[in-house]
Amino acid sequence: DKLPLFFKGSVITGFGRGSKQLGIPTANLPVEELEEELKDIPIGVYYGWANVIGLDNNKVFPMAMSIGWNPFYKNTKKTIEIHLINKFESDFYGAELRAIGLGFIRPMCDFKSLEELVKAINDDINYAKSSLEIEENKAFKNNIYFTYKE
Ligand code: ADP
Ligand code: MG
Repeated sequence: DKLPLFFKGSVITGFGRGSKQLGIPTANLPVEELEEELKDIPIGVYYGWANVIGLDNNKVFPMAMSIGWNPFYKNTKKTIEIHLINKFESDFYGAELRAIGLGFIRPMCDFKSLEELVKAINDDINYAKSSLEIEENKAFKNNIYFTYKE
């Protein structure tokens, strides 16, 4: 099994596809640096924990993330976008994000309408939250990975 998946990176600008306008901003990480980690991970939506170094005292939040194919690299490299389940006062581009992917939610799929997409994402968020309450998953919130200094 490829999970749990430990990974980190500096938050970069994404495609600007307007996820923020839908109320679900996704922090994008540089794919070049994560190729090795993502190599054997099937594309789809996952849940886990994540924090941003220097933000909210490094507090760890539930997250839902998508792993997909990056059209920029002619779909030879994967993309990773993380939605932290929390409302932040400001953006954190350039900051270091650390995450532990714990479980698979669903495969990637195309939606017929924006409404369907938003519904699916909200279902993903609820699935993530309840899955992270399971003791086995909850334990990862306090993992040393979120606090160690380089
Ligand atoms: P982009 O296309 O640049 O990724 P988004 O609309 O997806 O733009 O917004 C992502 C940015 O929003 C992140 O890089 C981060 O700085 C900020 N942000 C604010 N709140 C969150 C959150 N809860 N989860 C993820 N990113 C967030
Ligand atoms: Mg994004």
